[in-house]
Amino acid sequence: MVYCLCLAVVSSILAYSFIDKLKPLKGKFTSIEKWCEDMSGNICEYQIGKAKICIVQGDITEMDTDAIVNAANPSLMGGGGVDGAIHRKGGPKILEECKRIRATEYPNGLPTGKAVITTGGNLKAKYVIHTVGPVWRGGNQGEPELLAEAYRNSLKLAVSKGLKTIAFPSISTGAYGYPIEKACRVALTTVKEFLEKEDKLEKVVLVLFSQRDFEIYKEAARELLAN
Ligand code: ADP
Repeated sequence: MVYCLCLAVVSSILAYSFIDKLKPLKGKFTSIEKWCEDMSGNICEYQIGKAKICIVQGDITEMDTDAIVNAANPSLMGGGGVDGAIHRKGGPKILEECKRIRATEYPNGLPTGKAVITTGGNLKAKYVIHTVGPVWRGGNQGEPELLAEAYRNSLKLAVSKGLKTIAFPSISTGAYGYPIEKACRVALTTVKEFLEKEDKLEKVVLVLFSQRDFEIYKEAARELLAN
């Protein structure tokens, strides 16, 4: 009985360290990637240059990256969706800084595609980068380029502040109505192209709130990020 128990414990330890050894290979071989994914749950990683893109399912307000990105609206005064969740959990310091930014830099509101940075307040992340994604108007009003700009300007701001890790929600795919199957391709290719040129960031996390959104991102990542 004791012998069987010991054998079970030892084989579990061996199995886990074996999975850990295989993890760096994820993204290179689709089958191992799929296998590791299944073993490690709701996370999926790709190496791009010196950095990792991690796709996870979860709540962005729980992320301990240096910064999390807020899908804000031009007023910067908070709102629903991820914006509301960030302000609720981060506390009043975030809004105070947003008000200061409105009073000084952007009296008419933050234009679509631009990004600004504030404290993370009570969040685990030290900073919140606020960006405004485009409202979906059918796809012929410059939406893809504006969405790419929102990702790019947030990444540039993180680098300019010396940050190493950053987490994004799926910008524009909630109240702003951008179809997620289209938006995820813009998000993934923009982050990938940025990391190929810029080697200062270590990790970009794409956080999907729902299981369905996570599956859509994973599927697109297999096509767009695996070499
Ligand atoms: P937008 O106005 O840019 O569409 P929303 O906040 O309405 O912004 O939605 C953007 C995405 O954020 C949606 O996919 C939504 O499911 C997701 N979302 C909402 N709350 C959270 C959260 N706490 N963590 C991560 N993603 C979230």
